[in-house]
Amino acid sequence: MFDKILIANRGEIALRVIRAAREMGIATVAVHSTADSDAMHVRMADESVCIGPPPSPQSYLSIPAIISACEITGAQAIHPGYGFLSENAGFVQIVEDHGLSFIGPTAEHIRVMGDKITAKDTMKDLGVPCVPGSDGGVPDLDAAKRIGEEIGYPVIIKATAGGGGRGMKVAQTAADMESAFMTARAEGKAAFGNDEVYIEKYLTTPRHIEIQVFGDGKGTAVHLGERDCSLQRRHQKVFEEAPGPCITPEERARIGKVCADAVARINYVGAGTIEFLYENGEFYFIEMNTRLQVEHPVTEGIFGVDLVREQIRVAAGQPMSFGQDDLQINGHAIEVRINAERLPNFAPCPGKISAYHAPGGLGVRMDSALYNGYSIPPYYDSLIGKLIVQGRDRAEALARLSRALGELIVDGVDTTVPLFDALLQEPDILSGDYNIHWLERWLEANMGE
Ligand code: ADP
Repeated sequence: MFDKILIANRGEIALRVIRAAREMGIATVAVHSTADSDAMHVRMADESVCIGPPPSPQSYLSIPAIISACEITGAQAIHPGYGFLSENAGFVQIVEDHGLSFIGPTAEHIRVMGDKITAKDTMKDLGVPCVPGSDGGVPDLDAAKRIGEEIGYPVIIKATAGGGGRGMKVAQTAADMESAFMTARAEGKAAFGNDEVYIEKYLTTPRHIEIQVFGDGKGTAVHLGERDCSLQRRHQKVFEEAPGPCITPEERARIGKVCADAVARINYVGAGTIEFLYENGEFYFIEMNTRLQVEHPVTEGIFGVDLVREQIRVAAGQPMSFGQDDLQINGHAIEVRINAERLPNFAPCPGKISAYHAPGGLGVRMDSALYNGYSIPPYYDSLIGKLIVQGRDRAEALARLSRALGELIVDGVDTTVPLFDALLQEPDILSGDYNIHWLERWLEANMGE
């Protein structure tokens, strides 16, 4: 096992990794930009290294600075968290070339899954059901129009290198194709340096259901059921729950096995998420994320396992601490993402926290790097906390969420908490009857979006 690991991230996820490492008796190194000198992850780690100025490309994305920090401190492995360098295959290669361990999948798996066309081809070959669409990349507008006619409108045009909801455009009819195709291509080029796009049937009322998988890199893999992340704004998740309110035990066992078998066959190592759209009882693969997800705590809650601990174990060459038969669902968990944003427009709202009080009590977990007097810097993601609640069933989890939101105090900046207070009054949310478009429509009707 490692003696010391470095966490190449900040905020709540850096704390999350430090906590797991400490329970395993592993020393931790935080890295930070000059804007984060007073950040909680710096205070909580055993050691810290300043790696550059505030803009991420010069600090949290600076590979030479991070490798140097490892060498200075003697850290043997790097946990990337999510975002930043977590899905950068080149980074993984460099880490390994320096004799360090990457706590995550191989560079090859990250590369394959990071390109959505290759990922889809790979998954199809592994027997995973996919959304009907173009066979690979679409070279030009004429081909796009032909495929649109073939699969039938509406269709969605996606940048193969896309992520975070960017590089995707819907064409409702043939008349929209030209602008949707050109925009998706331009966005792919501008944001990811790759203008290749592909086309999928646009499903009109699906739910976003994703399967958590975990592999030991030696041909053994398990699934940890699903999360329903259908409540999204601009393709970004805001509320996640497990198990999915509409998924039956039989469906879970079936799709879970398909996913676990697929990743076992490629000797996948560590945590991964296979994302599907789910409509009329069918699952359609859309992409795989080769990292720990923001919403992993809901899965940890219902299975009672520590996924970060497990990631560290397999990265150190140890076996997984559980097999498929050990994994039984216990209750229901919900996570809400608390962002420093001003409603109704969700404009980022950095600033100084004048008062912070985290909720507590049975079944409540607050993953946050906030503290009284902390100043949220303007340079990074606006996620400031994740409130995760668990109950014996969904109704208990919802009541607990409402109670915990009432206890939470974040003064000094605007947050997305009022959104969740309002959502908890909605019959559709209480009954679990929502799809990927529900929140956008609700925001339009209630917040004039
Ligand atoms: P990203 O990598 O940017 O997160 P994804 O491919 O995972 O992109 O898709 C993100 C979201 O976009 C999905 O959760 C869903 O809401 C919507 N979406 C993606 N593909 C389709 C599709 N074929 N039909 C309908 N909605 C889709």
